[in-house]
Amino acid sequence: MPDVRVRIAPSPTGPLHIGTARTALFNYLYARHVGGTFVLRLEDTDQARSTEGFERDILEHLHWLGLAWDEGPAAGGRAERGPHGPYRQMARLPLYAEAAARLVAEDRAYPCYCSPDELEADRRAQEASRQPPRYVGRCATLTAAERAAREAEGRRPAVRFRIEPGVVAFDDLIRGRVEIDTAALGGDLVIVRADGTPLYHFTVVVDDAAMGITHVIRGEDHLSNTPKHILLFRALGHPVPAFAHLPLILNPDRTKMSKRKSQTAVRDYVAEGFVREALVNYLAYLGWSPGTEEDVLPLAEIAARFDLAAVQKGGAVFDRARLEWLNGQWIRRLADDDLVERLAPFLEADWAAGRIDRNPGPAEIAALLPLVRERLPVLGAIGELVGFLFSDAVAIDPALLVPKRWERATARAGLAEASRAIDAAGPEGFAVGPLEGALRGVAGANGWKAGDLFMAVRVALTGRTATPPLFESMVALGRERVLARLDRAARALEAETPA
Ligand code: GLU
Repeated sequence: MPDVRVRIAPSPTGPLHIGTARTALFNYLYARHVGGTFVLRLEDTDQARSTEGFERDILEHLHWLGLAWDEGPAAGGRAERGPHGPYRQMARLPLYAEAAARLVAEDRAYPCYCSPDELEADRRAQEASRQPPRYVGRCATLTAAERAAREAEGRRPAVRFRIEPGVVAFDDLIRGRVEIDTAALGGDLVIVRADGTPLYHFTVVVDDAAMGITHVIRGEDHLSNTPKHILLFRALGHPVPAFAHLPLILNPDRTKMSKRKSQTAVRDYVAEGFVREALVNYLAYLGWSPGTEEDVLPLAEIAARFDLAAVQKGGAVFDRARLEWLNGQWIRRLADDDLVERLAPFLEADWAAGRIDRNPGPAEIAALLPLVRERLPVLGAIGELVGFLFSDAVAIDPALLVPKRWERATARAGLAEASRAIDAAGPEGFAVGPLEGALRGVAGANGWKAGDLFMAVRVALTGRTATPPLFESMVALGRERVLARLDRAARALEAETPA
């Protein structure tokens, strides 16, 4: 199907939302799977809420996710590309005006002079008589003279599209047959406001028609808009595209995903250190699955297997734990250089924020990869894991130094003995195997469980109970610092021990 054209049409009224990213991904996957064209169009007609900053955030993060569009606005130093530009709706206003004029000329739409007060009074009357809100049709049949009279009063008309009685039916590629009685659509539809600005239902159809969109793939929240759009396509004399409505993304409590209950901005996931490979992999599973046991799939592989007909109808719960698991899987698969490059900014941020005293260079980070690679649910966890290596002194909670089965005095003795044994082994004995042997020897000689001694030592060196493997961490820390931290921790217990 070489002629397939799909689009993502974000409104820059907020940062890139997980839901928009998922919709963009499914459009991208479908386009790539069938060899079609993926178009990006910015729907920025809500001037009160649209900002350039949000626009940048959306383009930047779609690009970051690897969802390259074939046609779309200028972005990231790249010129606008594609034969159907401009790809920003605010630059397309004449097209909407022209289409609206055509509908009025054909009497498929008409000027509506109703004032906000009149419309509000209608709404209240309908509410009082328990009727659903709908336009009463006051201006639907005005004569030329009646229109002229209203113009003379200085009234500026909106443009309303006639919604004729009947049933609109279509075969949604995901949901199957959908039939909606036009009586449920709220009456004739405003397509251009009195101030001349066009509305979403209208601009989306004018543009999908002008841009030759063949498949509209979007969230289920738009399902109820589709009959209006179909009527507008027909009125404008354009073929109606196919529709595929993707299942809603849900909070864990199965309500619609919301900022209040879930983190929804892609940039916040990036800031935590989710990698693009894991995010697109996870987003693909929000409504689709490869039908096999495989979890970790790269974007190109997902595109090769993607099928709109396999998209589920039911809502897709956003499962943060599964996303973190996938992220960890992807972090394990990154090449060394790549992982070092991605970790560096997080350590630099820790340094800038004063959480560590030194900003390690790439070679130092590379040397730590064997210790951290399998322990990172997100890149941003790196500071927690290895910050003790780049801090002059770690803060230690003395209570953590004393393992559950131990007394304070045992911990103090344990740390002192460990220090003595490491010191006695000399620089030659300061390696993973000998260090482990030395500490096991100390534990055995004193009748301590090795695990308890290791825990006390771990806390003394790092301030934490969960760290990379102990002996590798000691080697990374270096002999001098290990001895100094053990002694300092032992002294801290002395000071804390009641006489
Ligand atoms: N600008 C609309 C939105 O962000 C596009 C909806 C559509 O795909 O038709 O929801």
